Amino acid sequence: MTENLFIQFASTGVQSLTPYQPGKPIEELEREYGVENAIKLASNENSLGPSPLALKAMDYILKGVSRYPDGSGFLLKSALSSHLGVNPEYITLGNGSSDLLDFIARIFISESYEVLYSQYCFALYPLLTKIQSAQGREIPAKNFGHDLTAMAAAISDRTRLIYIANPNNPTGTWLSHNELESFLDSIPKHVFVVLDEAYYEYVDEENYPRSINWLNRYHNLLITRTFSKVYGLAGLRIGYGLSHPDLADLMNRVRPPFNVNNLALAAALTGLEDQEHIQRSLKVNREGMKQLVEAFTQLGLAYIPSVGNFITVDMGRPARVVYESLLRKGVIVRPIANYGLPNHLRITVGTREENTFFIQSVRQVLEAI
Ligand SMILES: *Cc1c(COP(=O)(O)O)cnc(C)c1O
Repeated sequence: MTENLFIQFASTGVQSLTPYQPGKPIEELEREYGVENAIKLASNENSLGPSPLALKAMDYILKGVSRYPDGSGFLLKSALSSHLGVNPEYITLGNGSSDLLDFIARIFISESYEVLYSQYCFALYPLLTKIQSAQGREIPAKNFGHDLTAMAAAISDRTRLIYIANPNNPTGTWLSHNELESFLDSIPKHVFVVLDEAYYEYVDEENYPRSINWLNRYHNLLITRTFSKVYGLAGLRIGYGLSHPDLADLMNRVRPPFNVNNLALAAALTGLEDQEHIQRSLKVNREGMKQLVEAFTQLGLAYIPSVGNFITVDMGRPARVVYESLLRKGVIVRPIANYGLPNHLRITVGTREENTFFIQSVRQVLEAI
């Protein structure tokens, strides 16, 4: 590609950016490779889709799209408030939880500040840091997860923001209540901590943080959650932040007034009410995770134990080749060389049928190598 005509006029942070690489859409694969019935286990979406009730709600609301949405998200915030036991003034709605990750960066960081995140962190954290022309510091991981001791030790007067995903994507590692609590205790007042809980519904661990209890104790904490994963609404773009009301107030100042659309509001509200669908989805995930782990063990592939709806597996060779061969069979998974893991693939847990097709395909690909 030739040099971008306008790059010299962009901010120093933007000059250092490369575009985010999303998972390949199914339609694109079918078009490019001429395969049919392709499956996508690449973007940690819910294979069951959204609640049927959410689909119905959207159908009903469709005629209303000529109107601007409720910019305050009153109904959804009330529902979240009673579902979570948090006052509505603690809640900020986002166009996906990515929106919240962006708002907090825009509020607190600029050229003279530092942002901390872990090695193997979610790709958006360094990206948002660069957009603000701030200094990102990647702290080496411990067992593929966050090294909180090293992160706390790296804090300086210039540090303003720390991004932590729990569980982490793409590694699926997690931090316990006590580990995170000691970490939060050690954080100075001028540093804000984002606790990204995009996959919290999936975690079935007794010592997983009850992070909402921290909101009244740590006023520099932002918890982010999403309807993109277990709620199956990734395409609608809706998520939320939980924080001290003064932090929520700042986020509402930078938030575009109609950042969450009518359909997303209605689907999230109805989705929240259908907890049976969530339980079904969690069951499919538990069984699917077991199926994948057993297959990896049989195939002699090392994997990183994951508490999310995805698992990262070491192919023992450059994973690009396996990824390409899987594409030709109609299976989309996620290469994560851009995360510094060139031999690993990240697989989203699918339905039993999808997992079976994936496992068969990997077996064939490995036998052919
Ligand atoms: C998927 C994901 C998100 C969610 O992004 P949305 O904007 O809510 O779709 C946030 N953080 C992590 C770590 C994720 O994997």
